[in-house]
Amino acid sequence: MKIILATHNMDKVKEIKDFLKTYEIYALNEILTPFEIEETGKTFKENALIKSKAIFNALDKKQINDFITLSDDSGISLPILGGKPGIYSARFSGINATDQSNRTKLINELNALNLSKTPAFYTACIAISSKFGDYTTHGFMHGFAINEERGNNGFGYDFMFIPNGFNKTVGEIDKETKLKISHRSRGLELMKHILKVLEKRY
Ligand code: IMP
Repeated sequence: MKIILATHNMDKVKEIKDFLKTYEIYALNEILTPFEIEETGKTFKENALIKSKAIFNALDKKQINDFITLSDDSGISLPILGGKPGIYSARFSGINATDQSNRTKLINELNALNLSKTPAFYTACIAISSKFGDYTTHGFMHGFAINEERGNNGFGYDFMFIPNGFNKTVGEIDKETKLKISHRSRGLELMKHILKVLEKRY
């Protein structure tokens, strides 16, 4: 059983490969010509399944027997903003959004509310599509969003997110520590149980 990661996000690819070290894992562009997938879902779960299914359905008959696809749909939610940016985390600042422009928009929203720190949490839905069906798990990381950027590690909103139990942003924490506490790792940890069962059937 081999795994194709149904994502164009190389930061996610790195983290998932680091976490699932014992599996034979391929980035999407190593197996298929990447194509655009519209994330039209209303939840992390719907979007994760849209991605894993779209890539699985693009495999040929032989590949279907060897490969499963694994996707991650994730984002950060701030209760004070009614859960925003949530599933729109990657596109928070518009169609040409970058990680930097998204962070700047979120910092501006905190400043507009006179907040230097507010509760926030990351969600990751991990989805697998396989010839035996589709499966999902979720992982969360709770903490605080702050109105400034600190550190150089990670990506996305990591430089302005302090996990519970830490006084540093994820941007200031080393990669190994993030791998132990992140929403993505927690979702993947649960998915390992399903992977084990699937592996026996391939
Ligand atoms: P997706 O690729 O549609 O799932 O969008 C995920 C977006 O959520 C990313 O572009 C980041 O902005 C944010 N995000 C998800 N996971 C993380 C993380 O581990 N660190 C920082 N930002 C993240």
